[in-house]
Amino acid sequence: MTKYDAIVIGAGHNGLITSSYLAKAGKKVLVVDGRTHAGGCASTKVIANGFHISDCAQWVHQLDGAIVKDLSLEMHGLRLGKSKRTLALQANGDHLTIDGDSLSGAGINASDKKAYKEFKSQMRAFAKLMLKLYRTRAPKLVESDRGDKMTLLSLGLGLKMMGRKNRQDMMRLVLINIYDVMNEHFDHDGLKAAVALDAITGTNMGPRSPNTVFTYIHRMVGEALGNRGVAQVMGGMGSLGGALLSSAKTHGVEVRLGEAVTRIIKTDDRVTGVELSSGDVLEATAVVSSADPTTTYRDLLGYRNIEAGQARRVEQYRTRSGTGKLHLALSGLPSFTGVSPEDHSQRLIIAPSMDAMETGLNPIKYKELTSQHVFDISIPSIEDPTLAPAGQHVLTALVHYVPYELKTGWEGVREQLLESLLVQLEVYAPGIRTLIVASEILVPEDFEVSHGVTGGNWHHGELSIDQALMMRPFPGSTQYTGSVEGLYLCGAGSHPGGSLMGLAGKNAAEEILKQGVLS
Ligand SMILES: Cc1cc2nc3c(=O)[nH]c(=O)nc-3n(C[C@H](O)[C@H](O)[C@H](O)COP(=O)(O)OP(=O)(O)OC[C@H]3O[C@@H](n4cnc5c(N)ncnc54)[C@H](O)[C@@H]3O)c2cc1C
Repeated sequence: MTKYDAIVIGAGHNGLITSSYLAKAGKKVLVVDGRTHAGGCASTKVIANGFHISDCAQWVHQLDGAIVKDLSLEMHGLRLGKSKRTLALQANGDHLTIDGDSLSGAGINASDKKAYKEFKSQMRAFAKLMLKLYRTRAPKLVESDRGDKMTLLSLGLGLKMMGRKNRQDMMRLVLINIYDVMNEHFDHDGLKAAVALDAITGTNMGPRSPNTVFTYIHRMVGEALGNRGVAQVMGGMGSLGGALLSSAKTHGVEVRLGEAVTRIIKTDDRVTGVELSSGDVLEATAVVSSADPTTTYRDLLGYRNIEAGQARRVEQYRTRSGTGKLHLALSGLPSFTGVSPEDHSQRLIIAPSMDAMETGLNPIKYKELTSQHVFDISIPSIEDPTLAPAGQHVLTALVHYVPYELKTGWEGVREQLLESLLVQLEVYAPGIRTLIVASEILVPEDFEVSHGVTGGNWHHGELSIDQALMMRPFPGSTQYTGSVEGLYLCGAGSHPGGSLMGLAGKNAAEEILKQGVLS
C-alpha cells in the first residue's frame, strides 16, 4: 500500500496551499475532497443557463500576495479584477463613496473626512502589527518555546514602535465594540454602519458585540497586505480553486476529488491514515485537516479517540453563522437609484445605521427571521461579461443576519425570506424584480450541506477573541497540531482564521516542515 508523507483533508484554498508547500518541500502528498470541484468555499456554480455565480465567497480582499507568487497562481490562471470602491447606499439618495481612505458624497462633512483618514491610518498600523502575528504560528503564552519567545519579542518591539498613543489605544480598543468606537469618531450614520459592516461580516455578532474592533482589524489585515479594497476573481470564485489545483498538481500533489474522508484512523496513540467514502484505507505519517475543527474531531476522528476534556471543548466551540446569500440571474442591468451605470460594478452596500444592524441581529438570537437586513452586493458580470449571457447579469449579495436555525424549521421559509429581501432591495433598485430570470437564497444550513462547513460559518468557527490567535481553535489544539500525534489542522478553523487569505494553509505547512515529522 502507498504510504503518503501527508494526506490533506479538503481541497479548499487552505488545503491546497498546505499541499503545495509540502510538495514543494519534496513531500509525498495526497489531497482528498468530498466535493467534485476544488476550492471549497471558493466556488462557482450555474444557477440558470449561462449564469455563473460565486456561490459562497464573492470577494477577495485578504489574499496574501506572497502565496500568489510562491505558487505561481497567475501562471495557473488566477486573474483578479480591479479593486472596488464601496458605495454605501442611503435611502435619501445621498450615497457615500469610500475609496481607500477617502470619503465623498453629499451628506459627509469635513470633520468625518478628516477623522476617517486618521481612523484608517491607526487601524492600518494595528493591522500591520497583527499581520506579523498572522504570518506565523500564534505563540503560546505558557510553555512557550524559543520560536514563541522570538515572536513575542518581535510583537513587543512592534508595539513599542507604534508609539505610546497607538499602544494605549490598541489595548483599549481591541476588546471593545465597533459601535462605541464609531460613535467616538464619526457623525454620519451611514459611514458608521459601513465600517461596522466590515467588522461584523462573517460573524454572528452585532456592532455592539465585544471583540468587533478585533474582527475589524482582522479585515484590515487585507490592507496591511497591500489590497486596497475588495476585488472579484475573473471567471468566478471557482477560478481561484482551479488555479490552486493546477499549481498543486504541478508541484506533484496527488488529488482525489469526489471522495470524502469518512474516518481519521487512530492506531494505538497516533493517527496513521484515513478511510475514504469509496472504502479505500490510506496510510500517512501526517493527516492534515482543512475541514473545520468540529468536523475533524467530532465526525472524522470521533470523541472516543480524544480525551473527554477535549471533546467538551469541541462541543463548546461556537460555529453558528449569521450570513446568508442572495443570488439573482437578471435579464438586464438593474438600476440602483442615484448610482451611475459605471458605479454599478463597484461594491454596493445597504446598511442604513448601526442600530438597524443591531435590531436585525436580535431576532436571530431567538431563532427567528428579521425583516431588516444588511446587504453587501456585487454585480460581477459588469467587469466580467463571461459570467452571464450577453447583456444579462448576475447579482450576488452577502446578507446579514440570517439564522442558522429557525424555531419553525426552514421548510417553506426560504421563499418568505427571498420575498422580504426583494422588498428591501426594491427600495434602492426599483424594478429589479422584473429582471429576475432565476433566484436563490442560501441560508447557513445550506452552506453546511453544500460546502461541508459546520454551522455554515465563514471562519469555520466564530472569530471571537477567546477562539482566536493563541487560542484558535481551542486550547489543546493550537499551533496547527491536533490533540493526537500525527494529526494537524490547516483550515480556517486554525490561526489566523477565515476569509480567502491562505495564511492558515501556509503557516500549517511551515510548522509541519519545521517540526521535521515528515522526515
Ligand atoms: C457564505 C459565505 C460567504 C463568504 N464570503 C467570503 C468572501 O466574500 N470573501 C472572503 O474572503 N471570504 C468569504 N468567506 C469565507 C471563506 O470562504 C472561508 O473562510 C475560506 O474559504 C475557508 O477556506 P478553507 O480552505 O479553510 O476551507 P473551505 O473552503 O471550507 O474548504 C474545506 C474543504 O474541506 C472539504 N471537506 C470537509 N469535510 C471533508 C471530508 N470529510 N472529506 C473530504 N473533504 C472534506 C470541503 O468539501 C471543502 O472543500 C465566506 C464564507 C461563507 C460561508
